[in-house]
Amino acid sequence: MMSNSFTDTAIQRILILDDDPFILKTTAFILKQLGYQDVVTMEHAKEALKLIGSDTEAIDIVLCDLNMPEMDGIEFLHQLGESNFSGGIILISGEDERTLATAGSLAAGYELTFLGSISKPLSHHKLSKMFEYWQGPKQSAKSSKETQVFSAADLSEAIGKNQIIPYFQPKVELQSGKVMGMEALARWQHPELGMIFPDTFIPLIEKYDLVDELTFSIARQAFEQLRRWQKQGMDIKVAVNVSMKSLKELSFTDQFLKMIEDAGLENGNIILEVTESQFMADRLHSMNNLARLRIKKVTLSIDDFGTGYSSLSQLQELPFDELKIDKSFVQKASEDEKALSILESGIRMGKNLGMHVIAEGVETEDDWFRLADMGCDWAQGYFISRPIPAEEVLPWLKRWQPPVRKSAAAETSN
Ligand code: C2E
Ligand code: CA
Ligand code: CA
Repeated sequence: MMSNSFTDTAIQRILILDDDPFILKTTAFILKQLGYQDVVTMEHAKEALKLIGSDTEAIDIVLCDLNMPEMDGIEFLHQLGESNFSGGIILISGEDERTLATAGSLAAGYELTFLGSISKPLSHHKLSKMFEYWQGPKQSAKSSKETQVFSAADLSEAIGKNQIIPYFQPKVELQSGKVMGMEALARWQHPELGMIFPDTFIPLIEKYDLVDELTFSIARQAFEQLRRWQKQGMDIKVAVNVSMKSLKELSFTDQFLKMIEDAGLENGNIILEVTESQFMADRLHSMNNLARLRIKKVTLSIDDFGTGYSSLSQLQELPFDELKIDKSFVQKASEDEKALSILESGIRMGKNLGMHVIAEGVETEDDWFRLADMGCDWAQGYFISRPIPAEEVLPWLKRWQPPVRKSAAAETSN
């Protein structure tokens, strides 16, 4: 459970901000039923900021709609962060979970106390659950790093109880449409808060030094799942994510290989997607691990290529088989020439270095054909499939059909 317990006395005043008067009315009604008498409702973000600015401790909790006409919720969060607001924030929205999760991370980034998000329609149950997580006003708004919503014990327990599970996203060959593998992406199925995305909990996992526990837990679950798929006749690989930081322990390789063996798999079935991290004291150990894994036939993929810390020198130095071009390039390539040529040269360079090239973030049919024309080998992205739970993978495979070029389609129908 959460580290701090809910204290009724902590919550005095709640502000609800939503451009929809009906939502304001019903939410205020539910809150009053839950025993919170001092509820202020506002339709305009500017008014809300004025009230909060006049006394930053006057409001204990803000419930804020993400989608408002004059000032959207994201901008509101930004302004709230600037004003040193010390209360808690709950986002309400009709947007999808992903958008809510991103807004939540933003709130945390502005050093606001983000309590969670609730999707519309709001209910008595959803609101009461959410309020249990309120921890009282922070001592100092800017020391919020100390008052995280989840403690180390919460996360450690979540890993131990297998609440953090892999979802799977297909990697597909562009020329043939054949499914080459599935990437395991961590999702936290929180028993009360629902699904929590990695951008929210991975930074905490890193802070609490639980990265290795997570890596091995996701890997074990993903490997066991692959074994089950193999028994059903599927011939694919499974990819797991690891940061360079985890590779600094020399024991990583042995532990990882043992896990593959325990699951009854072969090393060649597994892809390790590696992201570079900024501060790497001991590159030597990481390189040692990568070299040994490569010798043992685990496929090594360099993740997020083109962003952050992955560099050209590293490509020559390290034994990668696969180059994974970050989704930002794929997305920008549809809009501007410069990004297009960066994408093109990235693909060419990977091929010249003898690597397979995969592009992530393929969201449209245009992206798909553009990449195919550039000679990219594989693709991954929402156009093919979102990350899905293991049990939806077989039904997806049965449905999956790669796109057909318009001209080719016209020819065959003639
Ligand atoms: P990543 O490895 O670069 O994973 C790709 C991210 O892009 C995933 O986000 C995926 O859901 C998202 N994505 C896939 N297709 C599309 C698309 O077409 N459009 C857009 N806009 N996004 C797309 P996700 O699952 O939220 O994961 C975020 C990051 O968290 C991952 O980035 C990875 O670095 C990290 N992560 C996830 N699971 C694990 C894990 O088990 N261990 C470690 N160390 N990191 C993990
Ligand atoms: Ca990845
Ligand atoms: Ca990426």
